[in-house]
Amino acid sequence: MMPLDPFAGDPNDPASFIEDDEVAEPLSPQERVDVTRDLAQVREFKAVLGPRGILGIYFTCEDCDQLHYYDWEIMEQNMLSSLRGELPPVHEPSAQPNVDAYVPWDYALGYLDGLDAR
Ligand SMILES: [Zn+2]
Repeated sequence: MMPLDPFAGDPNDPASFIEDDEVAEPLSPQERVDVTRDLAQVREFKAVLGPRGILGIYFTCEDCDQLHYYDWEIMEQNMLSSLRGELPPVHEPSAQPNVDAYVPWDYALGYLDGLDAR
């Protein structure tokens, strides 16, 4: 006898989530401007802070109230997805981040401002 599919008849069958019928909300013109600006910012952070050993940004997630750590590349990809009208991957923090190598967004901004002020 075949083992029963544990999710047979279950509307929450994980496989049903694989079908992507979720459609991303198109960005408003203002959001597009914001994301484009953030993307340029992230690329600058990556260029300036990356060589100094800073791998990315951390912030407190509004959904789960925990700190999330995002590499520059992941942030860049998420923003590019948004601009293409795709849903960015929701939770893709680095698995075992070296927490010392991540800074808050504002810190990264301040760091660049400091460099500009020289
Ligand atoms: Zn979260």
